Amino acid sequence: MSAVIIDGKALAAKIKDKVKEDVEALVRKQRIIPHLAVILIGSDPASQTYVRGKEKACEKVGIKSTVIKREIDITEAEILDLIDELNEDKTVHGILLQLPIPKHLDANKIISRIDPTKDVDGFTPTNVAKLTSGYPGLVPCTPLGIMKILDEYNIQIEGKRCVVIGRSQIVGKPMALLLLKANGTVTICHSKTKELEKVAKEADILVAATGKPKMVDINFVKKGAVLIDVGISKVDDKLLGDIDFESVKEVAGYITPVPGGVGPMTIACLLENTVSCYKSILGEKS
Ligand code: NAD
Repeated sequence: MSAVIIDGKALAAKIKDKVKEDVEALVRKQRIIPHLAVILIGSDPASQTYVRGKEKACEKVGIKSTVIKREIDITEAEILDLIDELNEDKTVHGILLQLPIPKHLDANKIISRIDPTKDVDGFTPTNVAKLTSGYPGLVPCTPLGIMKILDEYNIQIEGKRCVVIGRSQIVGKPMALLLLKANGTVTICHSKTKELEKVAKEADILVAATGKPKMVDINFVKKGAVLIDVGISKVDDKLLGDIDFESVKEVAGYITPVPGGVGPMTIACLLENTVSCYKSILGEKS
């Protein structure tokens, strides 16, 4: 039997429609438009594409977005000053620093400077601590989107073996925490993990977030497993995920395609998080 192909695009469209309705109602009441500030440093083509996508998505749901472009040689002091300004700016409700940033800048230091109430990506230490300790807070968009996918497709997490390949701050770690919070039995794998295939093959839910195209093939997959492919790599002008779709599609129970799986959900969750920031700043109930 072939795997169910998860339609992240359709679910994202549903979420965006709801965000649009919410934004319209909030703007009618508050007479203030939600506003996301996006900081883009340098001219990396992939980052530029992602930022354009975020701008377009904001526009469609009635969120104002401002892209603040800075040269690649910006100093740490200058970027910290910019963040201070945005933190203070009452017309800005969300701040997003497009990653990756140039190597001479300390990403952790800069992210830590973002006001946690405007932290639409959920990357500041305050929001990471909240997620870790189970308090409500802003949750990173990609893992949040994956949890919404699992929920939409009625995929049970409680008691299931969940394996996350990748331990980044933005995907792997928060993903593992969310699966754990949902009572999954979670294993995190990474580039130093031994017998990766064997560990992955135990998973009922397998999340691949390595950026290594087609790394996960049939040897990693238990029959009927739910496969979530976070990876996006451009190879010969084609977008490839971490999972070798053709190799696993007859064995898996569910699979997210690339493109059209996790990617659109990340953007939808960014819009939701922006509205959450706006609501908390303006004292609206969530
Ligand atoms: P990262 O480079 O920060 O982390 C990659 C992780 O994969 C590391 O923890 C590393 O230990 C692990 N890894 C690398 N090679 C491995 C191997 N051979 N075996 C096991 N583990 C290995 O990357 P990231 O920021 O977490 O992103 C991962 C991928 O997800 C990238 O392709 C990125 O473009 C994509 N991404 C997609 C979305 C989306 O919305 N779909 C969002 C964020 C990131």
